[in-house]
Amino acid sequence: MCALCWQRNISVSIESGMLFAKLQQVNSDQQQLADECGNACKPITEYNEPTKPRTWSESLTEIVHGNMEARKMFPLSYMELILTSDCNLRCSYCFERDKKPFNMSDEVAFAAVDFLIQTSRDIKDLTILLFGGEPMLRFDLIQRIVPYANKKAADAGKTIGWDMTTNGTLIDETRARWMAEHKVKYLLSLDGAKEDHDRYRKFPDGRSSYELIMEHLPMMKSYQPWMGTKMSVTPESTLRLRDNLYELWKNGINQFIVGYAHGLDWNDENLLKYEQGMLNVCELYLEMKYNEKYFRITAFEEESLCDIKEVPFGCGAGRGRFCVDTQGDLYGCSKMCTIMGHGKGILPFGNVLQGFTLINNRKHCLNDSIKSRRKCQGCDYEKSCGGGCPATNYERTGSIYLQGDEECETSLIYNRINEYMRKRHDDVFNTDWSNYVRRTRIEKSLPLH
Ligand code: SF4
Ligand code: SF4
Repeated sequence: MCALCWQRNISVSIESGMLFAKLQQVNSDQQQLADECGNACKPITEYNEPTKPRTWSESLTEIVHGNMEARKMFPLSYMELILTSDCNLRCSYCFERDKKPFNMSDEVAFAAVDFLIQTSRDIKDLTILLFGGEPMLRFDLIQRIVPYANKKAADAGKTIGWDMTTNGTLIDETRARWMAEHKVKYLLSLDGAKEDHDRYRKFPDGRSSYELIMEHLPMMKSYQPWMGTKMSVTPESTLRLRDNLYELWKNGINQFIVGYAHGLDWNDENLLKYEQGMLNVCELYLEMKYNEKYFRITAFEEESLCDIKEVPFGCGAGRGRFCVDTQGDLYGCSKMCTIMGHGKGILPFGNVLQGFTLINNRKHCLNDSIKSRRKCQGCDYEKSCGGGCPATNYERTGSIYLQGDEECETSLIYNRINEYMRKRHDDVFNTDWSNYVRRTRIEKSLPLH
């Protein structure tokens, strides 16, 4: 399991191995695409018409062909909506690099919901992740889109689960209550205790965002008792990682998705410290579990951790999941959409108004397998690595199919951490890992912290 990407963790757990197994059946002409491609996935370089999707097509043939081809591919069931490119913070490492305030219109948001319901075909349980920028800047739109989507889904015999990733600074009691009533669950972006969180995550005037979030946290927990966080580790915070998790847990955070922040100085020394920091986190995790605390770390609880025989290459991007940007363009995931800057996404495959106008780009997402990763073939870790994040691969090398050296290094680090975790777990609990995973699944139904 790739622990680098929290989105990938979600998508793989949602889609299960079945999806990847079926993938092999629809790859006949797609392998050829990869062989020819190398780096065919050029990003769109600029906005030309801000009110129209950049993947707009004037060709009826292209639209009809793309949408017919898409019917032979997997249904889409997990949608990320980029409600705005704007944010009220200015985090130095943020991948929404240019904070131009592009906002999603009602027309695009409603069309995106219709598109999801239509392209999910027979799948009944759908998920929408509200994303940004900072999605709470568009609370007005959230209040319109949630009832609209719930009704459309119910009419089609489906249900929608709502998730959001937010910096938490714009959640007051009225909003927290509304989200609880409408079952919109959220994950906070918190990078550690005050010193490490505030180093990068500040307001434009330099004020701390940590203090505000901590002030709101008890109120937020009164409406959403189980609180998770997406924690981005920076080179400065590596060796305090364990203390940071413990501090946040004491303040009421129950679940952690931990990964390193991209775009910072991850030289060999810092990567070594990151590995050490994560090993310290393993020890904390085991200690908490031993003492039966409600404390979870997503990467250590995924099913694939107990079965390293075969990790599928690629991820859910463009397969069962997709992302809609503010203008209505379709991408594999929010990182593919924004990693090169807003409006310069990698492999756009259509738009919510016309459907799949660039179907070959979706084929590239579907095609991501060991066969399309020449560098990985014969690598000792080929079966347990997963090949790194396609979006990061593109950023580093210009091809989703070719990993940079740093990606390989971090994949190996995660492999070593997982091996360490399994061994230490057996030492501490004297049982095997798969039994442990079964136990934590039962634990999910226990009363909340
Ligand atoms: S470590 Fe690098 S070369 Fe080896 S399988 Fe992973 S991504 Fe491929
Ligand atoms: S492309 Fe990268 S960020 Fe997007 S879902 Fe895949 S692994 Fe995650």
